[in-house]
Amino acid sequence: MAQKRDYYEVLGVQKNATDEELKKAYRRLAKKYHPDANPDNKEEAEKKFKEVNEAYEILSDKQKRQMYDQFGFDGPNFGSGGQPGGGFYSSYSGFDGFGDFGDLGDIFSSFFGGSSNRRRNSNGPRKGADLKLNIEITFEESYLGVEKEITITRNEKCKSCGGTGAKPGTSPETCTTCRGTGKINQSISTPFGQMTTQRTCTTCGGTGKIIREHCVDCKGKGTIRKSARIKVKIPEGIDEGQTIVLKGEGEPGINSGPNGDLYIVIHIKKHSIYTRKAEHVLCEIPITFTGATLGTEIEVPMVDGSKEKYRIPEGTATGTRFSIKNKGFKALNANWRGDFVFTVVVQVPKKLTTEQRRLLVELAKTMNEQPPIKKRGIFG
Ligand SMILES: [Zn+2]
Ligand SMILES: [Zn+2]
Repeated sequence: MAQKRDYYEVLGVQKNATDEELKKAYRRLAKKYHPDANPDNKEEAEKKFKEVNEAYEILSDKQKRQMYDQFGFDGPNFGSGGQPGGGFYSSYSGFDGFGDFGDLGDIFSSFFGGSSNRRRNSNGPRKGADLKLNIEITFEESYLGVEKEITITRNEKCKSCGGTGAKPGTSPETCTTCRGTGKINQSISTPFGQMTTQRTCTTCGGTGKIIREHCVDCKGKGTIRKSARIKVKIPEGIDEGQTIVLKGEGEPGINSGPNGDLYIVIHIKKHSIYTRKAEHVLCEIPITFTGATLGTEIEVPMVDGSKEKYRIPEGTATGTRFSIKNKGFKALNANWRGDFVFTVVVQVPKKLTTEQRRLLVELAKTMNEQPPIKKRGIFG
């Protein structure tokens, strides 16, 4: 397959484009490349048209856009697909038709002569619903990565009946009223001729199947509500609001369709001394005023619990920033780290011993000139 173009490039928008800008770009390009609008170059136009649709499908979905920004095509969500059955970071179901486009449906109905009204066969296999779960981890856990066990309550396929809802040993029968389609065609005579309308089969409620004896465990529903414990591997460097997708851990599929996915949104507790900015760790480190004046060696506490020795040069003013390279957060899916950036805060002693006071007074006598006042400091 040819190299995929960046979705933002496809739509010709900036990385920080708003929803409105995306929609505008999409509308323009979808019209431009619609195959019907390019009768001389149908094949190429169709390719572009699909590309534009795919880009918009991802970027217009907040969650998918975030995943794309975070992982790109190499990310587990856009690549060759994830591991089935609850792998870590797996694949989206992808673009599967023109059906669910919300207010963009009008574009499609004009293009496809109303085919946007095409519905998937309601009795065919359908993917189960996706589930979303928020979890909170500590700052250190986001720095080091962590494995968490979570509990979710979800529907699972009933094991007794294999999800059919029929008593074990029996199986659902095809509805004879609708011959399994779940729909009844009705012909009505009108002054303009015969018109056919469709309604849901009332015998089977549109499922196309009749269950004579219900499974007692699930009461015929085919699913059972259960608590499940799931292990989630959270990679080092994950940031507030980022999402991990566990494929197939959502609600069960319908009519043998695939299970939905589980989205785990990460929240990070505030730390008492550290904050994060991009991939850097920031913090304040207090130093004594003598250390600031004469220079000193301090031990800086790293997020992983280790200590780094750092030489503060003499004459360091309060508010000076220092950084320790590559001791920040690991970038996700990349081989570099941010820095550990600390700001020194010079501590002025509130209490002095008599001896300390005497020494300072001696010192002050040697420096009895007021330093020049910086205008910015006062009027700035
Ligand atoms: Zn059952
Ligand atoms: Zn029926």
